[in-house]
Amino acid sequence: MLQINNLSKKYGKQIAVDQVSFSVPDGRIGILLGPNGAGKSTIIKSIAGLLRYSGNIQIQEFPAKQMEAKRIFAYVPEMPSLFEALTVREHVEYIRKAYGSKITEEEITDMLERFELADKQDKMGNELSKGMMQKVSICCALTVKPRVILLDEPMVGLDPKAIKELKEVVRELGQQGVTVLISTHMLEMVEDLWDIMFVMEKGHIIGSYTREEVGDKDLDALFFEMTG
Ligand code: ATP
Repeated sequence: MLQINNLSKKYGKQIAVDQVSFSVPDGRIGILLGPNGAGKSTIIKSIAGLLRYSGNIQIQEFPAKQMEAKRIFAYVPEMPSLFEALTVREHVEYIRKAYGSKITEEEITDMLERFELADKQDKMGNELSKGMMQKVSICCALTVKPRVILLDEPMVGLDPKAIKELKEVVRELGQQGVTVLISTHMLEMVEDLWDIMFVMEKGHIIGSYTREEVGDKDLDALFFEMTG
């Protein structure tokens, strides 16, 4: 379980996230949905340990201070940047070494194949499209075998084919028991992807739904009701 309790974050005097609490069960796909400026990235960056915040963040039995050391989570930023001088495979190898991951060469090969990157593994970082960079970043994240993966606006700038592929990857992660938290401002991008959704506005969660609760209801209508 990814558990967030009373998370707050101020930038100077501005409150970006105000006393937010939510949880995503193990192996489930959670969505933070809201317009620009709602506070989604701030939450994701706080979980990733990139910001100082007040409140409590816990993944399974690990409190925030232990999460980084134990490689419990992996974070993929909105604009992933790759090394110009490394190939696709070298990126993954680099992360493996840097983090002392026990992933095997064979597992890396399988992963690159699954992500349809095998035939691109010798391409340099700066020769890739945004979609491919996104997939390489996700591969790098998975190299540490995280229990939770945080994806900040992963669909922005991707073409429809890359979005479809990314969704398949995310679904597969869920099936493997990895907990996923995705931020997005585009409801249509995640309609068929989520297990639990948190709708955000101005630093607050104004609605949270499980897939079971929503059932066949029209998500667009629900969203409209909530945000007026
Ligand atoms: P977006 O998709 O546009 O990034 P978001 O929902 O992820 O939106 P945040 O990026 O978390 O929202 O921003 C929440 C609020 O905090 C916004 O009002 C934003 O202007 C402000 N903010 C974010 N980062 C900073 C920063 N480094 N310094 C000052 N204010 C910030």
